[in-house]
Amino acid sequence: MRLRDCRRLVIFTGAGVSAESGIPTFRDAQTGLWAKYSPEQLASPEGFRQDPQTVWDWYAWRRERCLAAQSNPAHRAIAELQRRLPYATLITQNVDGLHQRAGSGAALELHGNIHRLKCFRCGEDAGAWPDDCSAPPLHSCGGLLRPAVIWFGENLVQDVLEAAWRATEEAELFFSIGTSSLVYPAAELPFLARRNGGYLVEVNPQETPLSAHADLCLTGAAGTVMPAILAALVAVA
Ligand code: NAD
Repeated sequence: MRLRDCRRLVIFTGAGVSAESGIPTFRDAQTGLWAKYSPEQLASPEGFRQDPQTVWDWYAWRRERCLAAQSNPAHRAIAELQRRLPYATLITQNVDGLHQRAGSGAALELHGNIHRLKCFRCGEDAGAWPDDCSAPPLHSCGGLLRPAVIWFGENLVQDVLEAAWRATEEAELFFSIGTSSLVYPAAELPFLARRNGGYLVEVNPQETPLSAHADLCLTGAAGTVMPAILAALVAVA
C-alpha cells in the first residue's frame, strides 16, 4: 500500500475539511448582516484601517462559530494518520483550530489562526482573545490588536511557508483535501509536489483546477473518504 510504504507524506487541507463541522467557507460566511461587505473590506489591512470595529466584529462572530463547532470524522482520521505515520506533515489553510482540537500534532497553519491576536502596528504576537470581545484592544505599543490571520494583500509568514515548501518538495505522497486550489501561494503546493515526483491524491466532492493534474481523485466528502483511507491503512498494518 502506497500510504504504508511511503516515508514522506504531506496532508494539505482547506475549508472543505471543516465544512462538515458547519464552518462556512469564506464566501458562505458573508451572509446576513455581512452580505453588504466585500471580502476585501472584511479581510484586508485597508479594510481594518478604515473600519476596525466592523472587521473586529466579523472576526469575533466567525471565531464564536469556530468555538461552537466540533471536529468531524475527517479531522479525527487525519489526526490518527499523523499518530500512525510520524513522518507525515500537516499543512492547513484553515484558521479554525479544528485539526488541533481533533488531536492533530504539529500543523503548519499557512493562513494563521483565528483564536490568536497580533498587533496591527508592530506585528507582535498578542496571544488569545480577551474576555471582553466588544472592541479591538490596544497593544502596549499603542497599536490595535487584530486576529492573527493572513489577510488579502499580506504575505504569508516566511518560516511557515518555507517549512511547507520543503516538506512538499520532499513528499512521496501528497494529499490535497477540501481545497478549491484557487488561493495562492498555498494552491501552488500540490503542483510543486507533482513536479517533484510526488504522487498526488485529491479529495473533494467537486472538480477543481487541480483535478486534471492529480494521480488519483477521490470524489467525495472528506468526512467519508479520510476515515475509509485510515481503515484501509489499519487493515494492512
Ligand atoms: P474554498 O472555500 O475556496 O474551497 C473549499 C473546497 O472544499 C471546495 O473545492 C469544495 O468543493 C470543497 N468541499 C466542500 N465540502 C467538502 C467536503 N465535505 N469534503 C471535502 N471537500 C469539500 O476553501 P480553500 O481552498 O481552503 O480557500 C479559502 C480560503 O479561506 C483559505 O485561505 C482559508 O484560509 C480561508 N478559510 C478558512 C476557513 C476555516 O478555517 N475553516 C473557512 C473559510 C475560509
